[in-house]
Amino acid sequence: MPVPLNRRDFVRSGAAAAGLGLTARANGAPAVQSRASVPVVISSSNGNSYTHDGKETCVVRAFRLMTEGTDVLDALIEGVNIVERDPQDTSVGYGGLPNADGVVQLDSCCMHGPKKRAGGVAALEGVRIPSLVAKAVLEQTDHHLLVGAGAQTFARQLGFTVEDDLNTPESRRLWLEWKRRIDPEHFLDPEKRARAGADAGLAMVREGLIDGAHYFGTINCNGVNTRGEVCGVTTTSGLAWKIPGRVGDSPILGAGLYVDGQVGAAGSTGRGEANLFGLCSYLVVEQLRQGKSPKDAGMEALRRIKANTIETRLLDDRGQPRFQVSFYVVNRAGQFAGVSLFEGDYAVCTANGPETRPTEALLPGKANW
Ligand code: ASP
Repeated sequence: MPVPLNRRDFVRSGAAAAGLGLTARANGAPAVQSRASVPVVISSSNGNSYTHDGKETCVVRAFRLMTEGTDVLDALIEGVNIVERDPQDTSVGYGGLPNADGVVQLDSCCMHGPKKRAGGVAALEGVRIPSLVAKAVLEQTDHHLLVGAGAQTFARQLGFTVEDDLNTPESRRLWLEWKRRIDPEHFLDPEKRARAGADAGLAMVREGLIDGAHYFGTINCNGVNTRGEVCGVTTTSGLAWKIPGRVGDSPILGAGLYVDGQVGAAGSTGRGEANLFGLCSYLVVEQLRQGKSPKDAGMEALRRIKANTIETRLLDDRGQPRFQVSFYVVNRAGQFAGVSLFEGDYAVCTANGPETRPTEALLPGKANW
């Protein structure tokens, strides 16, 4: 469940000391170590909201494990597992809002910078923690992406628990409400049906039935340790009420996530189609490679998305995109930024503890869903 942050306790913890590069001397006094990178974990804002009934949020756990010496990707995935397992986040993992048929289909990918390996799963049904299946694809296959029934068979063969249904009473209740709002006559016309579905979903956001951040909604989490080892993971239930089989940006390398171990990492949340069209996480990392700061690199991708958004159905009456896209960017040195088309939040954990901060926005105001 969402937690009040306990920053003081965090700063007292060993994780904070490890993050500062402090090690105890024999006499107990800390000694500052020189190091290549400032350790940091950055994520979408849900990375600092949910604890799945424990004490740590995603960024806190990932930062603690990473600074205790756990492999960076393993630490990040342990972090996002908290959100995947927590049914209160209805945009990720168990209890994620289902597709148009009422089936929860999950997407995830992960990348390991130093090992130059990647893995992903898409439209995976029945497994609460798709990020661990994505990691199994990375570690145990020669492939980068498994989808649908094949991904589920792979997960079953590796011993993952496969459940019949990942809906919770709440996600099912919301799906039934959405169904109720669709005029059956629109089922005869795919275009009208799609528009009716989107309009009904967005009306539910405006009426406060669904958290806007969960209509789309995902967690991306990236980190770098003191040795400059960069990794990232993205995991989601995707767009609420999507056409069965629809895959967004989240599990696609270069779109929902891109990591280059020499350069940095970027991942995204928001309208997947807008990001997928330009492979914008790849674009962000390439901008980092050219020497741009995390903020400037992210802004370049947001400008590209805005320029590519020309269809009137996607524009509001100001001629601006009707949707949100955010990027969470960290370079190998540990500099980071959260950026978005419109006002938003992101989470970060450094040696100073966890924080939820406003993103740097390209455009003024909130997204006009
Ligand atoms: N990007 C995700 C998708 O399109 C959803 C989101 O993050 O809002 O599936």
